[in-house]
Amino acid sequence: MIIADQGVRREHHIHEECGVFGVFSPHTDNLASMAYYGLYALQHRGQESAGIVVNDDGVFASYCDEGLVSEVFPSDTLRKLGSGNIVVGHVRYATTGSDRKRNAQPIVINHYKGQMALAHNGNLVNSYELRNKLEQCGSIFHTTTDSEVIAYIIVQERLHTPSIEEAVYSAMSKLDGAYSLVISSPSKLIAVRDPYGFRPLCMGQTKDGKIVIASESCALDAVGAGFIRDIDPGEIVTVSRSGIKSDVRGCGQKEKKLCAFEYIYFARPDSVLDGSSVSLARQKAGEFLAMEHPVEADLVVGIPDSGLDAALGYARASGIPYSIGFTKNKYIGRTFISPDQEQREAGVSIKLNPIVSIVKGKRVVLIDDSIVRGTTCRGIIQSLRNAGAKEIHMRVSAPPFVAPCYYGTDIDSTDDLIAAHHSIKEIADIIGVDSLGYLSVEHLMQITSETGNICTACFGGKYPTVIPVNGDKNLFEKKLKFRKEDKENER
Ligand code: SF4
Repeated sequence: MIIADQGVRREHHIHEECGVFGVFSPHTDNLASMAYYGLYALQHRGQESAGIVVNDDGVFASYCDEGLVSEVFPSDTLRKLGSGNIVVGHVRYATTGSDRKRNAQPIVINHYKGQMALAHNGNLVNSYELRNKLEQCGSIFHTTTDSEVIAYIIVQERLHTPSIEEAVYSAMSKLDGAYSLVISSPSKLIAVRDPYGFRPLCMGQTKDGKIVIASESCALDAVGAGFIRDIDPGEIVTVSRSGIKSDVRGCGQKEKKLCAFEYIYFARPDSVLDGSSVSLARQKAGEFLAMEHPVEADLVVGIPDSGLDAALGYARASGIPYSIGFTKNKYIGRTFISPDQEQREAGVSIKLNPIVSIVKGKRVVLIDDSIVRGTTCRGIIQSLRNAGAKEIHMRVSAPPFVAPCYYGTDIDSTDDLIAAHHSIKEIADIIGVDSLGYLSVEHLMQITSETGNICTACFGGKYPTVIPVNGDKNLFEKKLKFRKEDKENER
């Protein structure tokens, strides 16, 4: 069954990756509840599975399953996890490895120094080679994720290193690509960000001294933690009873490349990533769009939710009134059966419905954050026409999406990217608008003034890493299938 929220979004947008969360408490406490609220705030980053591991002085209790945080953790499940002094949590959308239940995180590994729990956001570009090597040396994998590869390498390194944080540092020299990690050893909470800083990771503190690590600052707000700072690209932060230790040996080795899509679409507007507010970055993108692609119109309308901030910016810079042109059905849940393709094209109004009294007879500037395949976009535009809009001028608060992403999103080939196969004029005709304008890469680079460099590879920019030999996000499933077929042929 295709589920509605994901079904519509998946074809409309590039899809989010994962969210990670962790807490170290100086005293034993009900950290499972804290993780629940933290993960709840990060739900937008992954809706396929959720998991929490509570560490009570080296004894780990864990639970992961498919579903939203509220579905996976009813109060009695949360209670059974008990109290502890460290917690690690994860929400997942499958970027590598599609099997939802088996691949749910955090991963828990028993090794000769005790247990380790690991939650990962991002995608390695060399996981294929690393996993092959590990398998040839006898490692047996239980999941089809690259996160398990990371966990095994850290555990291997732990054999030759004096501490878990040294093992993490040694492992980093073998890992290439995107990884923001939260790890629990028996006595430590460790936060790690890859040297490019593709995915965000930040640290906060509660009034009673708990240290909180989260993918986005909105999760710190959700658990009453004040923001301390972002984890730097390449940095390892270790929190233990001896205090907070920062290892910066991995910092500055690579040019920083926080994903531009975090600002455009993935992150929540109330988050601040590497010093830049997501909401303000989106508004700035709208302002630049108005400068780049002005048009005579009666009102500016954003497609909820991620087009709203950019629409505000466009309206402010152009002087054209901002208006709420759509009502979004907030009650479409995971169990809603999504329309098939034909129904979807005809009936996007199930989720988004134009407000006729606002748009009828008007020249509308319609703002969205991206066009992936263009099919949902076409449906939304058709519904706006049906509602009586006189002209529709679409403006997109990102450059044309023309190349795959290998760093933790679900676009691993150009097959589904309309901009990779059509000119802007052709796309305008396909989706049925009177004019179409995208934000330029030059202006995109300026929407996050505090952040420094951002990754723009999928807009035709340069890939900062080697490109994986096989970027297929379901690579390891296919490998398993291939082996099975191989075996059947041998019989
Ligand atoms: S390639 Fe695109 S989606 Fe992927 S990390 Fe870079 S900017 Fe983000």
